[in-house]
Amino acid sequence: MPTPTLHINTRLIHGGYSPESETGATITPIFQNSAFAYKTAEQIEDVFAGREGGYIYTRINNPTIDSFERRLNAAESGLAALACSSGMAAISTALMGLAGSGDEIVSGNSLFGGTYSLLAHTLERFGIHTKFVESTDLAAFKAAITDRTKAIFVESIGNPKLDVPDIKALSALAKENGIALVVDSTVTTPVLFPSKSLGVDIVVHSTSKFINGHGTAIGGAMVDCGTGPWSGPRYVHLHDLFKQTRQFAFLAFLRTRLHRDLGPCLAPQNAFLMSTGMDTLGLRMERHSTNALALATFLSKHPTVAETRYPGLASHPNHAVAARQFTGGFGAILTIRLGDRERCFKFINGLRRVQNLANLGDVKTLAIHPASTICRECTDEERKAIGVTDDLIRMCVGLEHIDDIQTDMDSALKAL
Ligand SMILES: *Cc1c(COP(=O)(O)O)cnc(C)c1O
Repeated sequence: MPTPTLHINTRLIHGGYSPESETGATITPIFQNSAFAYKTAEQIEDVFAGREGGYIYTRINNPTIDSFERRLNAAESGLAALACSSGMAAISTALMGLAGSGDEIVSGNSLFGGTYSLLAHTLERFGIHTKFVESTDLAAFKAAITDRTKAIFVESIGNPKLDVPDIKALSALAKENGIALVVDSTVTTPVLFPSKSLGVDIVVHSTSKFINGHGTAIGGAMVDCGTGPWSGPRYVHLHDLFKQTRQFAFLAFLRTRLHRDLGPCLAPQNAFLMSTGMDTLGLRMERHSTNALALATFLSKHPTVAETRYPGLASHPNHAVAARQFTGGFGAILTIRLGDRERCFKFINGLRRVQNLANLGDVKTLAIHPASTICRECTDEERKAIGVTDDLIRMCVGLEHIDDIQTDMDSALKAL
């Protein structure tokens, strides 16, 4: 366990890492196998009973997945991590582990589309009701809490609205009420967002994005920061486990019940790719952030751009909160408005290097028109709530030289 005094870039590289014990391999190899054999019936009985540590079956645990979980946990300075097959799997497992039929979640309304659909439609079918409130309106969160509330959920930066909730204030509210605070830090990663010190109980990630960093695999994970109110009155389903495992109760519940039963395990090959991504995550987030700030500054002064939104700009309504809570930058994502949909399409079609696709966190700069793509299924009211106007373009700034990104954008804008 690394001491929390190590800097994030050191924790990303050394934290949770140990050389492979049999051979000394410097990277945990891909254990591409489904099951693990034992010499005696007594040994395997001990592992099943939890008296001995050991691997059983890759849906439950595997050395390559375990290595990635330890590394991510060290980066978050958490208690322990659980990897999942995708970001959506991590979010659904975390929330279904907290709430059951008849329970409620209070969520910010500025959310990744898949998460919105999970909360508004899928969990609703299983009797878990979500109340959506303005992500930056603390009083609205407070008013929405009832004795059935099992989680408060927000994204560290809303997408594509780019609003930044005040996490310390939300954490205080959650603690006052004995509710777990769950935050999706996909777009900030542990490099920009120090979950534990801001008072987050469970941090979730789509590791498909910046953590992987190269667009080579889908994956997700959650980290339990070790502060969840698991022995409190809202989490009766965790009380027996709390007696046996104390603060590990929530992750023990997921590992011995929900995650084991639903089966959304990360593939060992993908765990290996996520681990490789973590080696350079610190450097990449730094460059994503400096490039995005430079581009946002450039676009905010461009005569053709009606509005530029980026949490790093002083003009952003939540800039002060973002500056206080983020460490080392404001991330890669910015949005611009160009007047109408036709101009947006013309702009995207005029870009030569920037790619037009529905991903985030690649090394390449990406642009998309949300209203006609990722927010296509939304009602007008939902679009309004998440700030998706017909003239909005979302960009995720990559690692190319900033001058080349700027030149590409400038010529596409001048041709409008
Ligand atoms: C992509 C994304 C997800 C979903 O992750 P997948 O790995 O695609 O399942 C969740 N939250 C945010 C903020 C995302 O960007």
